[in-house]
Amino acid sequence: MYDTLIIGSGPAGMTAGLYAARANLKVGIIEQGAPGGQMNNTSEIENYPGYDHISGPELSMKMHAPLEKFGVENIYGIVKSIEDAGKIKRVITEDATYEAKTIILATGAKNRALGVAGEEEFTSRGVSYCAVCDGAFFRNQDLLVVGGGDSAVEEAGYLTQFAKSVTIIHRRDELRAQKILQDRAFANEKIKFIWDSVVKEIKGNDIKVSGVTVENVKTGEISEHEFGGIFIYVGVDPVSKMVENLGITDEAGWVITDDHMKTSIPGIFAVGDVRKKELRQITTAVGDGAIAGQGVYQYIENMK
Ligand code: FAD
Ligand code: NAP
Repeated sequence: MYDTLIIGSGPAGMTAGLYAARANLKVGIIEQGAPGGQMNNTSEIENYPGYDHISGPELSMKMHAPLEKFGVENIYGIVKSIEDAGKIKRVITEDATYEAKTIILATGAKNRALGVAGEEEFTSRGVSYCAVCDGAFFRNQDLLVVGGGDSAVEEAGYLTQFAKSVTIIHRRDELRAQKILQDRAFANEKIKFIWDSVVKEIKGNDIKVSGVTVENVKTGEISEHEFGGIFIYVGVDPVSKMVENLGITDEAGWVITDDHMKTSIPGIFAVGDVRKKELRQITTAVGDGAIAGQGVYQYIENMK
C-alpha cells in the first residue's frame, strides 16, 4: 500500500514526488516512458528560473535525480484505469494493480492531430510532431510548420539549423506565440510565413511526403506547395482517458481541480498540463506538483 501513487513523471509528477517523499510518505511514480514528459521534446528551455538556457532532456534528468535519494519508487507501466474505493484507490496498469491511499494524476497533454487527409498516412514518413526527435533527418530541405503558438514558432526556429527553409502556415494573420519568440522568427531569414491559410491535404509518393494543398481562408484560393517535411504543432489535448469514468473532467477531458489540486473525489489530486488551467508551462507544472505533494500529506494526516 502506497501513501501516494503518482501517474506520470513529467515536471508536475516529479515535483509532487519530491514533496511527498520529503514528507516521509511512501511514494511510487508510474511512468510509461522516460522521465521528463514533454520536456524531452524540446531542445531549448529559457524560461525556467535558475537556468540561462537548458535543454529539455537535461532538465528532465536534473529533476529526476533527487527522487531516488528521497526513496521514490519508479514503476514502469501504462495506466489503464483508476478505481476509487473510498480510503483505498486502485491503479490498474496493463499488467498489475497497485493500491494507494491517494493518487496524483500527472499525465500531462499530448500533441493534437491536424485531422487532414494524408496526415496519418505520412506520419513518420515526413510528417512529425517533434522537431527535436526528427529535425536532423531533414537537412537542406524545405520544411513546413503548421500552427502559430509557442511550440510552432519555437520549433520552427530550431529546425532552421538543419533546413534550407522553414515556412510557418497559420490560420490567422497574427501569431499566438510569445512576443520574444515571434520577434526571433521574424528576424530569422530562413523563416517564411503563409498567413490566413490552412492545410487541406498532405500529399506524397510511395516513400514520403512531397507537399501540401493549402486554402486561403479569406479568399478561398487553393494552392499547391512542395515540402520535404511537415511539423504539426496545433495545440495539445489532455491525457485523461484513464479517469474518464470518474466524472472529474470537463467535456474536453481537462481535469477540474481547486487551488489545492484536489479533484471532486477525496484523495485524488491532479497536477500540471492535464488540469483545466490557463498557463501550461514547466514552472506552473512544478508549482502544481509542490502543492499536491504537500496536499496528500495533509490528507493522510487527516485520515488518522
Ligand atoms: P507532461 O510533461 O506531459 O508529462 C506527463 C507524463 O505522464 C509523460 O511522461 C507521460 O509519458 C506520462 N503518462 C501519460 N499517460 C500515462 C499513462 N497512462 N501511464 C503512465 N504514464 C503516463 N514549457 C516551458 O515552460 N518552457 C518551454 O520552453 C517549453 N517548451 C515546450 C516545447 C514543446 C515542443 C512542447 C510540446 C512543450 C513545451 N513546454 C514548455 C510545455 C511544457 O513541456 C509542459 O507544460 C510540461 O511538460 C507539462 O508537464 P506535466 O508534468 O504536466 O506533463
Ligand atoms: P497552442 O498555444 O494551443 O497553439 C496552437 C496553435 O495552433 C494556435 O496558433 C492555433 O491557432 C493553431 N491551431 C489550432 N488548431 C488548428 C487547426 N485545426 N488548424 C490550424 N491551426 C490550428 O499550443 P502549443 O503551441 O502547442 O503550446 C501548448 C502549451 O505549451 C502552451 O501552453 C504553450 O505556452 C506551452 N509552450 C511553451 C513554450 C515556451 O514557453 N517557450 C514553448 C512551447 C509550448 P489560433 O492561434 O488561431 O488559435
